Amino acid sequence: MTKTIKVKRLPVDPGPAAWNSILTPASEYPRLSGDITADWVIVGGGFTGIAAARRLSQLVGSESIVLLEAKRLADGPAGRNSGFMIDLPHDLSSETYAGAHDNDLRQIKLNREAIRFAGEMAAEYGMPKAVFNPCGKVTAAGSSRGEQHIASYQKHLTSLGESFHLMNHAEMKEWAGTDFYRSGLFTPGVVMIQPAAFIRQAAAGLSSKVSIYENSPVTSMQVGAVHKLVTPDGVVKAKGVILAVNGHIQSFGFFPKRLLHVFTYASMTRALTPREVTRLGGVSDWGILPADPMGTTVRRSSGFMGSGDRIVIRNHATLNQSLETSAKDMKKAAKLQDRSFEKRFPMLKGVEMEHRWGGRLCLSWNSMPAFGEVEPRVWAAACQNGLGTVKGTLSGMMAAEQAVLGSSPLLTQFLDHQQPRKLPPEPFLSMGANMTMRWKEWQAGIEM
Ligand SMILES: Cc1cc2nc3c(=O)[nH]c(=O)nc-3n(C[C@H](O)[C@H](O)[C@H](O)COP(=O)(O)OP(=O)(O)OC[C@H]3O[C@@H](n4cnc5c(N)ncnc54)[C@H](O)[C@@H]3O)c2cc1C
Repeated sequence: MTKTIKVKRLPVDPGPAAWNSILTPASEYPRLSGDITADWVIVGGGFTGIAAARRLSQLVGSESIVLLEAKRLADGPAGRNSGFMIDLPHDLSSETYAGAHDNDLRQIKLNREAIRFAGEMAAEYGMPKAVFNPCGKVTAAGSSRGEQHIASYQKHLTSLGESFHLMNHAEMKEWAGTDFYRSGLFTPGVVMIQPAAFIRQAAAGLSSKVSIYENSPVTSMQVGAVHKLVTPDGVVKAKGVILAVNGHIQSFGFFPKRLLHVFTYASMTRALTPREVTRLGGVSDWGILPADPMGTTVRRSSGFMGSGDRIVIRNHATLNQSLETSAKDMKKAAKLQDRSFEKRFPMLKGVEMEHRWGGRLCLSWNSMPAFGEVEPRVWAAACQNGLGTVKGTLSGMMAAEQAVLGSSPLLTQFLDHQQPRKLPPEPFLSMGANMTMRWKEWQAGIEM
């Protein structure tokens, strides 16, 4: 019995993937052409697909592995994110925290396994510190409301036995150069990556074991004794498939009515001049997450491949169940980001934004992944709930382990989760979610 799945939509990424654009151009992997056969196919070349490829190559040795990416590597969300590989659960400030202690400990353990796995890739493929930097991050507050979040975060970290360091206004200024933040909470376990460079270097490292094809979107898939994946110019036949396409898992017909497709947006300055760098002060590389989850993420990066010192501002989120955003949302985000930049960096008045972009996230109502064997020998590793550098790495590793080993101690811990919960119907979902996000952004006030 065979079943044909027509892929409903292909990814559309608004604006440039800035982290990729500021690097020297990468040499292209070929487009799939003609008919080939492999033991394994991975669809999607983001953090999840790369991790699945590496883990699979470790487990199956000499079997053949193909990775198909719809676009260029690192041009999708992989080259659009802020580059925080976060070990701790994102929101420890929830009032419902009391019963979540064991779950948080489990998540921290799994996140750290994924970061360790990424660290092994960084070491094996010779990534410099500018690409993979285990320097920690600061969660910072610019308002009394933000400071309340920090106090709650600190309480929960203490109960988890996690280390941290509180930074006062003067320390924040000395570190980040800006007067904006009243206080901050440093946690050491976060790795700051140049996300596009990480993906490119990991792919290059894997390319002796994995055949990588770019500009090769899967447009349909025949599921059967041997699966057949069709791209515009070629076909791959394989016995096992891992779908590492995040929210586009729904374009393959899986997890209907269970996934939220959110866009978030960012702007990156041009390279700062040496004079501007001096005016800014502070250390050369840092990352700040907002104390209020709907606030602004800010990052300073001193660059890789001569891309220069730059500042990246990320904020604003919209629910777009069509998996595409609009020019209007891009414009609104640009305005918000200019305002956030001006508030934080008055000493950099006149520094323009060189790149502006949006990127897809996939979330579920109950923050669960869309994971597992969705058809015989077809595994989904999707829905990374906005933290895909780590959660994607983890689910890619886990999909490979489930496909090859069936079970493993780490997989048992990972699988201790529910399915993504069913969503409310439209138009209530989109109207309600967008209104809630706007309200929360308004409440975030100065933290935006
Ligand atoms: C502005 C912004 C900031 C962010 N900051 C962070 C952060 O600091 N830390 C963090 O952890 N996360 C962050 N994220 C989220 C993170 O980028 C994603 O969670 C992560 O990229 C998901 O990884 P993935 O590999 O699962 O999916 P993706 O990166 O979306 O990769 C899936 C790939 O599949 C390909 N694909 C889709 N359909 C097909 C098809 N039919 N055929 C072939 N290929 C296909 C796509 O082109 C894509 O390259 C941020 C995202 C944005 C937009």
